[in-house]
Amino acid sequence: MGNILDTLEPKDVYKFFREISAIPRPSYHTEKISEYLERFGLERGLYTRRDDLGNVVIKKEASEGFKDKETVILQGHMDMVAVKTPDSAVDPYKDGLDLQVEDGYLYAKGTSLGADDGIAVAFMLALLDGDYELPKLECIFTVEEEVGMDGALGLDMSDIEGKELINIDSEVEGILTLGCAGGIRLNGKFRRERTGPNTGKVYYIGVRGLKGGHSGMMIHLGRANSNILMGRVLKSIKDAGIDYRLVHIEGGEKDNAISLSTTASIYVPGVEYDWLQAKIESTVKECELKFISEYTGIEDGIKIEFCAQDEDDITCMSRKSTDMVVDFLNTTPDGVIKMSDDLPDMVETSLNIGTIVTEDDYVVTDQLLRSNAKAGKKEILDVVSKCIQDVGGEAVVFGDCPNWEYRKDSPLREKMVRIFKEEYGYEPKLEVVHAGLECGIFCDKKEDLDPVSIGPNILDIHTVKEKLDIESVNRTWKYLLKILQDVEG
Ligand SMILES: [Zn+2]
Repeated sequence: MGNILDTLEPKDVYKFFREISAIPRPSYHTEKISEYLERFGLERGLYTRRDDLGNVVIKKEASEGFKDKETVILQGHMDMVAVKTPDSAVDPYKDGLDLQVEDGYLYAKGTSLGADDGIAVAFMLALLDGDYELPKLECIFTVEEEVGMDGALGLDMSDIEGKELINIDSEVEGILTLGCAGGIRLNGKFRRERTGPNTGKVYYIGVRGLKGGHSGMMIHLGRANSNILMGRVLKSIKDAGIDYRLVHIEGGEKDNAISLSTTASIYVPGVEYDWLQAKIESTVKECELKFISEYTGIEDGIKIEFCAQDEDDITCMSRKSTDMVVDFLNTTPDGVIKMSDDLPDMVETSLNIGTIVTEDDYVVTDQLLRSNAKAGKKEILDVVSKCIQDVGGEAVVFGDCPNWEYRKDSPLREKMVRIFKEEYGYEPKLEVVHAGLECGIFCDKKEDLDPVSIGPNILDIHTVKEKLDIESVNRTWKYLLKILQDVEG
């Protein structure tokens, strides 16, 4: 009996997909797959270059009838997010994947499938290996996309001749991705002058019950950021005439997630009045009601916890340090800053105050700024840096990742839209994403680059449920061939 995998179309694509699925290739464990790709190119006598990071470039000369056509760059990443179920017999760090077919989908039993971005690798290998009439191809296979895009960042593009780049790392058929956000990371450092030890009551406040989410792809939903809400609670307590000092503040998990939980504790020096605790508690309660009504329909679980505890040996911050933190949280912008002028309903610039932590000498905020426009990133960086400095803090910039700016004039997009309509009978959706993609890095290295990103339907990527839509692969493959073999453009 034949294996059901042998029956899948396009045969060449699945042949190579199965070959690479037999080679473990989690991020940072890409040596074997990188060697495989290098060997693949050399065995076929193709121009093949493998760099120190493990990136591989393979070129194939144009077929007879395509000598005068533009070179096309194809690109995808060879690494995958490797996860497994606790009881999986397959260890994706050591073993090949156990590919299975069910209800029109391909999946890997017990692990992620790595169709993100193994399908791009399989497409490129099938094109390089096959007997297709094609223009000159430059295939770029990068490493470590899933863990910070180090492969793309370190890639030397000086031997890349093409301008048109088709990135095959999107997961929804029918969408052409035409731009991505650049990001920059920024720390706000607020000096923590300490006084103590003190004895008395410490009041604990916790902002809870928020939804959070990815700070790029989900920022347009307008969800609340717990660090910002905490800033507002602290300001309301101050506005109620209570001269407190911040003891500790901590919120959020990482800079690229919308913060969903923040805790702060405060201490009020001097005489302890009976009414103090009740006053703070009622102010906190008022804030909770205000936030619930403000975020109706967006957040439905907002809760602000409050408790008081007698303590000795309390180290609190000076009034100046307390004010710096509270004032910053109340003056900084957060969330969506600007929507795109070119494409409807797309966020262009955003900001997320991801974390706030109390260190020995500083309270530190960690924020990620994103923009699909180069100028937008600079603008928001200036605004936030000024907010930090205005209250007396220090702004530290790091981790600058370039954007891929939407090209008003893009011959590749025009060609791909035209062929999409011919093939599918309807208009593709044109999008820019408000997150980082490798294309941003390539555009930064090669100014004349004209990239478009596509891909077949892949569900639940980065999870053990990841599955690849088999028919969608077939359609996307035919679409890709039509683009490459187009004689009009
Ligand atoms: Zn990917």
